[in-house]
Amino acid sequence: MNPGQDTAQLLAAELTAAIQIMALAFFFALLAQRIPLVGDLDVDTLDRMQQREVYLQEQMTKLLLEMEEKNTALSTMGTQALLRCFVFCLPILLYCFMWMICIKFRRVEDTCDEESSSIEKEQEEEEEEEEEEEEEEEEDDGVFSLDVFWTVRSHQEDCEVMYSLMCGVMDICRNMVSDTFYPVPERLIKVGSTFEGWCPVRNVPVFSLLVPLLAPRGHTFHLDLGTTGEVPAMYSRIRVELECTCKREQEMRMRCFLHTSAKELKRQQPSLLHSLCTTSHLDAQKTARCFQELIKKAWKLMHVSEFTMEIDTVKSRRSCRLHVRDVNKRIFYVEFVFGVQQDDTDIFLSSHEIVYRRTPSTVWPQSCVVAEKKFLQYVANHPRGGKFYLRYLQLCGYLMASLKFTIYDMKTVIMHLLNTIPLQRWHGRAFLLRMDDILNYLHCCVEEKRLDHFIVGNDSLPEEIILPKEFRASPPLNMFQHLEEEPDKYERALQDLAELHDRFTATLLYGR
Ligand SMILES: [Zn+2]
Repeated sequence: MNPGQDTAQLLAAELTAAIQIMALAFFFALLAQRIPLVGDLDVDTLDRMQQREVYLQEQMTKLLLEMEEKNTALSTMGTQALLRCFVFCLPILLYCFMWMICIKFRRVEDTCDEESSSIEKEQEEEEEEEEEEEEEEEEDDGVFSLDVFWTVRSHQEDCEVMYSLMCGVMDICRNMVSDTFYPVPERLIKVGSTFEGWCPVRNVPVFSLLVPLLAPRGHTFHLDLGTTGEVPAMYSRIRVELECTCKREQEMRMRCFLHTSAKELKRQQPSLLHSLCTTSHLDAQKTARCFQELIKKAWKLMHVSEFTMEIDTVKSRRSCRLHVRDVNKRIFYVEFVFGVQQDDTDIFLSSHEIVYRRTPSTVWPQSCVVAEKKFLQYVANHPRGGKFYLRYLQLCGYLMASLKFTIYDMKTVIMHLLNTIPLQRWHGRAFLLRMDDILNYLHCCVEEKRLDHFIVGNDSLPEEIILPKEFRASPPLNMFQHLEEEPDKYERALQDLAELHDRFTATLLYGR
């Protein structure tokens, strides 16, 4: 190896060490950031932080010594000068961080002092308010650039293209059913993580659309929620009834199904009861098959040249899954789920499958997806809100890959916290504190084996979310009941929690 290579290697090693030291300095900055917002630090926490501080100082001293040893081998004056600069500057930086930490500690101690006067308290409150306002102004201008975690594009452009394309398809379907007695598709509702803007990193984006269905002419839908009182109802059904249209036959372009002879009725399309129902209930599988045919015909009528489309019949038992390919052979996965709105609320009886159970064809479980979407919209539109929550969901989705917690568990935790912590405290530099809140909340839920459903039995939801009365009156639904019933799952959840914390720490330190 020649001397030039030696120097290059030494320089590379030197820079690596310098970067490590900067990472430690960065960590001190983190400590300094976090402390003023913690509020009530207990003695144990202060002890742990001081121990951590000693450990980090030891690590820094060790790295400085290593750098000195390598320095003796350096042959170029330029590199030595660079090293001297680092060695000279880093103690100053370290001193500055230590000074910031001491100041913060003093401030926390001051706030804990019971004998402090009311005037002082008022001043502190004013200072806190000012800090909050500064946080709002700083937005993303923190020590931690949130974009470090915003590594995956949000599919925004694809969402708009797919939504527009599928609205065109459904408009044609609506025209096609206008002469029949099939359910009438209403305006599509965007649902699911991709349309919400935070598709989990390792997941293939699925463009999910809820198709609200209205009863056709001469028919009415009656929602049968079952007798168990379960909320949300798992085994609810949609009963179809005929109504008399004798006085409106011309206006409705049909003969009355109730008062017209069977012979004459043969001249018009069959009623919904005789097409997509089993007994007198709307059949989700028959409905899905019917719409698959309608969508195929609609696609042909659209003459789309930029895309090709095929239906995934294997995964379309109760819904309608499409594979849409563009000219570059990119595949977009689109899913239509059908639903009937419960009165004028944000709850739908939907054709989605019941998780882990076979769903009978006439069963339409109650779905909260629209109510949850409306809550996130409420946060986004709030004067102190915004779409910042997407980054928390995105990072949590990244951290939770392959763990047993579902992304829905984490979304529920985040929604609970969004509903309790003032929205202005989620921005900018508060990101790490809120992430800490999210992980701690999940930790408490696992330990208590209880995570309440966000919509069911939650009496603190914004008024904008319209729910059937049984949803507000119901006791909270425990989504972690299985941890109570199955000790193995509880043990696994504890292991996953530890893994989640480790992954979060690694992401902070190494950015991955
Ligand atoms: Zn009639």
